[in-house]
Amino acid sequence: MHEFSVVSSLLENCEQIAKDNQASKVLAIHLEIGERSGVNADLLKRAFLDFKIGSICEDAELFIRLVKVKLFCENCKQSSQAVGINYTQCPLCGSSSIAIIEGNEMLLLRLEME
Ligand SMILES: [Zn+2]
Repeated sequence: MHEFSVVSSLLENCEQIAKDNQASKVLAIHLEIGERSGVNADLLKRAFLDFKIGSICEDAELFIRLVKVKLFCENCKQSSQAVGINYTQCPLCGSSSIAIIEGNEMLLLRLEME
C-alpha cells in the first residue's frame, strides 16, 4: 500500500527534525493532505499507528487537515475551488487553461516535540 511508504518517510522526516532540534520525543504531528495528493488520510492514520511503535513518534498524535483542490485559470485569471473531481476545466469560464495551485501535495506543517 502506498500509504506505508508515505508513513515511513514521514517518520524518517520527523526523526531527523527531532534530532536537529535535540528533542527526545515527538508529541504531535500536524499534516496537511491535499485532496489530489493521492494520499488517503484514513489509511495514513492506520499505517501511522503501526509504524510509530518503537520510533521517536511512538507517543505522537497525528493531526490531519484536508485541503481542497484549488485551481487557477489562465484565461479569466481567477482562482477557484474545483467542482467535484473536475480538475481540468475552469468552473467560472469553462477554459481548460488551468493549473492546480492547491491540494496537490502532502505537507508536514508542524511538529510538537519535547
Ligand atoms: Zn476561467
